[in-house]
Amino acid sequence: MSVVVVGAGLGGLSCALHLAGAGRQVIVLERTAAPGGLAGRLSLEGYRFDTGPTVLTMPELLAEAFGAVGEELTGWLELTRLDPAYRAHFPDGSTLDVIADTVRMAAEVSRVCGPREADGYLRFVDYARGLWRLERDDFIARNLDSPRDLMTANLLRLVLAGGFRRLSTKVNQFFTDPRTRRVFSFQALYAGVAPHHALALYAVISYLDTVAGVYHPRGGIHAVPQALAAAAEKHGVQIRYETPAARVETRAGRAVAVVTADGERIPADAVVLNPDLPLAYRDLLPAPPPRRLSRLRFAPSCVVLHVGSRQAYSRIAHHNVHFGRTWRTAFDEVIRYGRLMSDPSLLVTSPSRTDPSVAPAGRQTYYVLVPVPNLVTGRLDWHGDLAERYAEELLRTLEQRGYVGFRDGIEVSRMVTPAGWAEAGSAAGTPFAAAHTLWQTGPFRPGNRHPTLDNVFFVGAGTQPGVGVPMVLISGKLAAARITGMMLR
Ligand SMILES: Cc1cc2nc3c(=O)[nH]c(=O)nc-3n(C[C@H](O)[C@H](O)[C@H](O)COP(=O)(O)OP(=O)(O)OC[C@H]3O[C@@H](n4cnc5c(N)ncnc54)[C@H](O)[C@@H]3O)c2cc1C
Repeated sequence: MSVVVVGAGLGGLSCALHLAGAGRQVIVLERTAAPGGLAGRLSLEGYRFDTGPTVLTMPELLAEAFGAVGEELTGWLELTRLDPAYRAHFPDGSTLDVIADTVRMAAEVSRVCGPREADGYLRFVDYARGLWRLERDDFIARNLDSPRDLMTANLLRLVLAGGFRRLSTKVNQFFTDPRTRRVFSFQALYAGVAPHHALALYAVISYLDTVAGVYHPRGGIHAVPQALAAAAEKHGVQIRYETPAARVETRAGRAVAVVTADGERIPADAVVLNPDLPLAYRDLLPAPPPRRLSRLRFAPSCVVLHVGSRQAYSRIAHHNVHFGRTWRTAFDEVIRYGRLMSDPSLLVTSPSRTDPSVAPAGRQTYYVLVPVPNLVTGRLDWHGDLAERYAEELLRTLEQRGYVGFRDGIEVSRMVTPAGWAEAGSAAGTPFAAAHTLWQTGPFRPGNRHPTLDNVFFVGAGTQPGVGVPMVLISGKLAAARITGMMLR
């Protein structure tokens, strides 16, 4: 049985590995010259930047993808556990290190916010770990076909645990200091929702981030798709780069082939689509797409500023979250009103601190990420002079937040805006897909099986279980399970 996977993003690669491990013949068609999709690489004058994810959690899912073809993660990637996972910088000048070791972290919370807050932290860890255990097998790493599939004993436990209350309400039960409240709830934004609107279920993201640990692969996160692709090829997967798929050919309710932009027809017993889901429906499949796709609410987008620099800063860690003074307003500006944050919170990552190989000798790399509206909620013209003005504003903000001389140290820089994400193939100009609102989560999120073509499947952030490296790796495994369980006709 041969499967054509369109797209060598992390979802597509994970699927290819799981299929190859189950003995299927797999061809991956990738439009660009390299694997990874959003987990790409930008090389500028001796500097190497990760273009997408920088916070790598749950390496066990990577191990599982390698393990599907009998390979060991450690044979392919050299991972460093970041300590601290993050450094949080607050407007009053204080900092809090987020350390994955709970005993040391309790001491750190106690140092910054007092012993009562440290007790709250330990109770939060128990709570979030419990949620993770309840959610993982029943609701995340499982193919869900209908809301009925949610009816397990764990659903009741989740309700009783307050999983369907608001995240900020729940987090506030454990923490009283505004700083810890922010540190353990801002991750809702990864799911595209403000902490005061997100469900408490999403405390699992904070758990994965702050307790389970954050890793950095030598060479940068792009080393991950490189390694997955190499392992897949070693085990017989054919990856054809610079080969865009133009359409899926169908006959009698089934896909029979994928046709490339050059007109080549590649027969397939099953097809897996990794491009952003709404665009996969729009561009590759016969019309009409499901009606509900036109009603999807997308996550906010982001601007990323990449800087190669002569400047080094001793006060920062590998990952730094610089919180602005405003909190609820900042989320509302971006998500509800489609405006730029007036007092932005920023993620500044400096991979060269951990891995000097990503910069020329004595130089540093900085990756500055700021949430901004997607192109649906915010009608901002990033093609005009806005990008330049916003870059200027970001440099000013960075200097105010302690990056003294940041502008003078710049050797190379590049900024990516929502217009850039849209051009690279992300619907609504956001690389974070549909927001994880209740009605776009679990079985309510667009499914990984085409509603009428019974051998067409989806992987990646737009389908279940959702956005982020761990989730798209799981999506690949789930789609592979659909295919290996498929009846041949
Ligand atoms: C700036 C940024 C920061 C992020 N930070 C984090 C983070 O810290 N931690 C985290 O876990 N996640 C993070 N994410 C999210 C994470 O990167 C994504 O959720 C994940 O990488 C998406 O993977 P995917 O499988 O959906 O595919 P994509 O990465 O979207 O890949 C799709 C692939 O399909 C290919 N393709 C598209 N159309 C065609 C076609 N017609 N023919 C052939 N090939 C095609 C594309 O070229 C691409 O390679 C971040 C993302 C971004 C952009």
